[in-house]
Order: sequence, then structure tokens, then C-alpha cells
Amino acid sequence: MSIEKIYADVCEEKHRKLTDGELRAWQDVLGEFSDSDIDAALRRHRHNTEVDDFTGKVLGDLMPMPAALKLSIEKFNSVETGKFRSCGKCQEGWIYVYKGLTVGPNPGDPQPIDPKVGAVRRCQCFHEYCARKMHSLPDPPQKRTQRQRTTVLKGMP
Ligand SMILES: [Zn+2]
Repeated sequence: MSIEKIYADVCEEKHRKLTDGELRAWQDVLGEFSDSDIDAALRRHRHNTEVDDFTGKVLGDLMPMPAALKLSIEKFNSVETGKFRSCGKCQEGWIYVYKGLTVGPNPGDPQPIDPKVGAVRRCQCFHEYCARKMHSLPDPPQKRTQRQRTTVLKGMP
């Protein structure tokens, strides 16, 4: 998908005539963002039930402004940085496997995976996210001193 396509779809949805100028504005303002970011911003826009003071219309029904979508993406992404984001190769942190063993219903009794059903395991990106999350938690002061000392020692020849 391209910005042109997204813009054309929105125009169709809002029964609005496409214009080159508007398309250029969309490309300029939203070109740096991924389709999924823009898509999500559009979804948030559609769900906006606030009423515009001037027109008395529900904001979600109006044609979204690219600048407003950009703001929405930036705001959302900064809130979301603490949340899990898949590497894109897995299913939201899960990888489907169709052979090998599972842990099984009883401890110490692994069962072969039914290839028709499959099984899931955590993707590396999820483990990395957990590690990041742990590190981003504020450390108690004592621990931080310890970590700083370790870093210094490691850096010494
Ligand atoms: Zn992954």
C-alpha cells in the first residue's frame, strides 16, 4: 500500500474528491510513517466521537487532516514505546511450530507436537522485550551504583 492508495481510500470513504494538492500534503506529512501506523491513526480518527464546535459534526466522520494523523501517530507511538512490538516475523511474539516436542500436560512428560494442530513458542523479540522492560524499570539506588561500577570495571584495560 502507498500513501496514494490510503488517501484514495479515505476520500472514497468520506465521499470526497481527490485533489493533487491534498495528496501532496498527505505524502509530505505522512510519508515517513508506515502503512500500519497510518492505518491505526485512521482507525483512531474514525472512532473519535467528539463533536466539532463549529460544524456540529462528529469528528470521526470528517475527512482526517494529515497533520492531525501525524500528531496522533506520534502521540500514540510515544505512549506505546513501553509496549510490546513484534519483530514482524512472528505472530505478535509467538512462533508456530509443527514438529518436535511440547512440555506436555504433565511435568517431565513431553509430548510430540500434533502437526495438524501445531504449537507455539515465544519469539526472540518477545524475550528481548521482556529484558528491555526489566531494564527500563527504575532500579533501587543500591543496584544502580553496583551496575555503574561494573560498567566502569569492564571499560578498564
Ligand atoms: Zn518476533
